[in-house]
Amino acid sequence: MSDFQELEPIHFEGAMDYHVHCDYSIDAVGTIDEYCEAALKRNLAEICFTTHYDCNPVGDCQGNLISIKGEHKTTSIENLKPYVEDVRKAAEKYNLRGLSVKLGLEFGWFDNCQETAQKVKDAFAFDYFLCGIHEIENICFCCRSTYQKCFDRYSLEQMVEKYFQTAIKASDSGLFDTIAHLEYYIKYAKNYYKENLDNAYEPYLEELFKSLIATETTLEINTAGYRHGVNQYYPNIKIINRAKKAGVHVQFLGSDAHRPQDIGFDFEIAASFVPNTITGTEE
Ligand SMILES: [Zn+2]
Ligand SMILES: [Zn+2]
Repeated sequence: MSDFQELEPIHFEGAMDYHVHCDYSIDAVGTIDEYCEAALKRNLAEICFTTHYDCNPVGDCQGNLISIKGEHKTTSIENLKPYVEDVRKAAEKYNLRGLSVKLGLEFGWFDNCQETAQKVKDAFAFDYFLCGIHEIENICFCCRSTYQKCFDRYSLEQMVEKYFQTAIKASDSGLFDTIAHLEYYIKYAKNYYKENLDNAYEPYLEELFKSLIATETTLEINTAGYRHGVNQYYPNIKIINRAKKAGVHVQFLGSDAHRPQDIGFDFEIAASFVPNTITGTEE
């Protein structure tokens, strides 16, 4: 990896990227060190690694794997240890250079995963525990190779209903700091369903917001949508503003970087929507 050498600094202090995949995620490239160096080049104050933890026993996506030094291993608490140790080491090393490094995990939601998620959460002292909803009824809607198979089963209304029912369940569990990239189905649904997606989520927002508030679960602003060509954050700004007005805590920006050069992606603009940066607005 050398592309991140050219990164420009973000022009404000205190920016934090709370959604970052290093090469322990099988779909990401770049070592923990390379991400930390990229974060320093971008002038970030803090970076939180959020490796994928996918373990749906009947899921069809990417084989429930963790990559350890390039070798694919089955996702398990045991196989997560090298990741946890490496992030902790980086936290010590980069603290001396002014970068705070946090330990997070993106747990891939599946039906009845609560007990499993709780065990994983309890196994390590995570700073941040994200819920990644990537599947509807066990088929991934955000991989190029599977999204059609997922969407073929539903009308737009059915798909969105199932997605939000899942998000509400994940929020109700109270297990997670944040529901990652809410409205992520947009990534492929925008082209698949040639209809207005805004009306489809409308019936579920109020119930979801109530649940998020009750369980003190936050939402992130995930900037990856502007790399995916859908020209919006996950979730979109209308949802973010309504969530904030309803009392939901919108806490962190996440680039969802899977390459070091995407650290802090689009944060100059996104920062105005969160309170955790110097340019952000506290509600
Ligand atoms: Zn995700
Ligand atoms: Zn992610």
